[in-house]
Amino acid sequence: MSETVNDVRTASVAPPLGTVPAVLVRKDADGTVTVEPGTAPVTAPKPNELLVRPAYVGVCGTDIEILHGSMPESFKINYPHVLGHEWSGIVVEAGTAVEGFHPGDRVLGHGHLGGNDWFGVTHDGAAAELFTVPADMCFHIPDEVDMLTAAVIEPFACVLNGLKKIGGISAADTVHVHGLGAIGLNAVIQAVTAGAEVVVFDPSPLRRETAMKLGAAAAINPVETPDTTGAAAAAMGRPFADVVIEASGNSAAQAAALESADHNGRVLLMGVSTPKFAPARLGLVQERNLLITSSTGAPVAVWPAAIRYVANTRLNLGEIVSTVVPFSRGDEALQRAQDSSRETKVMLAPDATNADGAAASSTHKAN
Ligand SMILES: [Zn+2]
Repeated sequence: MSETVNDVRTASVAPPLGTVPAVLVRKDADGTVTVEPGTAPVTAPKPNELLVRPAYVGVCGTDIEILHGSMPESFKINYPHVLGHEWSGIVVEAGTAVEGFHPGDRVLGHGHLGGNDWFGVTHDGAAAELFTVPADMCFHIPDEVDMLTAAVIEPFACVLNGLKKIGGISAADTVHVHGLGAIGLNAVIQAVTAGAEVVVFDPSPLRRETAMKLGAAAAINPVETPDTTGAAAAAMGRPFADVVIEASGNSAAQAAALESADHNGRVLLMGVSTPKFAPARLGLVQERNLLITSSTGAPVAVWPAAIRYVANTRLNLGEIVSTVVPFSRGDEALQRAQDSSRETKVMLAPDATNADGAAASSTHKAN
């Protein structure tokens, strides 16, 4: 998706008083959680806040968990609230105590409000035509980085953090990626950028095709071909990988990730998992001297590194976005995001973005 939104179009528009269209997460009396279009109040920014007009707001697995009521109890969710924790936008107004941000600045933000409070998860987020956010959660978007890429930095930063934990990837490595959602596809991007040879595994033809466009050397359907190392050997001449990234959370894929790892291999489990029993050859861990670890989320400290990475490489992370849906169809965005056969990453955008035709249309990319 190479088009970029007209970034500064709306920068100087004064905020209207009252309410703006928003995508709301509600909880009914019977406990049913729904995500639907609605309105949210606009307030002037507090002294330490920015008032922001969003460009893009990512829909991610956490949003689906909120919808299904399957978030861990430790997340105290305030209902109703505005959806959206992965975003890019333009500063409309800076609070009186804010330094370093000005109207018109292009910004993105991490989501950590402190403790277990999260912007767009437990509290109001970015899927409103105007929203306020603490300035100390925000970063400038470098000139080299387009607004759609900026809204995908969160999963990119999660992957960067995980790969740092296992010592990174080099051009000497073969990398196997199991599961090609936003995490898996960002792992493909970082492995390809490092010069590694990348083999991917996912049942979805669209996701495999996207990974190939991003530079994967081979793509395998693990449902059709459960012998994943045999399939890798047939495609690449080498059955195993130096680095294995499991990004689906599926038990069978976790077992396959162990099989993928060569002697002294490093295995990174990133897929959000509902632990289930599945046959796995645990003796491989000892026999092949494997390092196995996991990584979840992106600590604040990794965000500037992720932003520098994308600016230095001029990566277009919009390549992994399959659909942009306007706020007025926010419920549809959540439905689409659950359809792995038709979607890679779903984005929300203000309706005006689409009406301008400046961003990608709200329909699917050709696939
Ligand atoms: Zn997320």
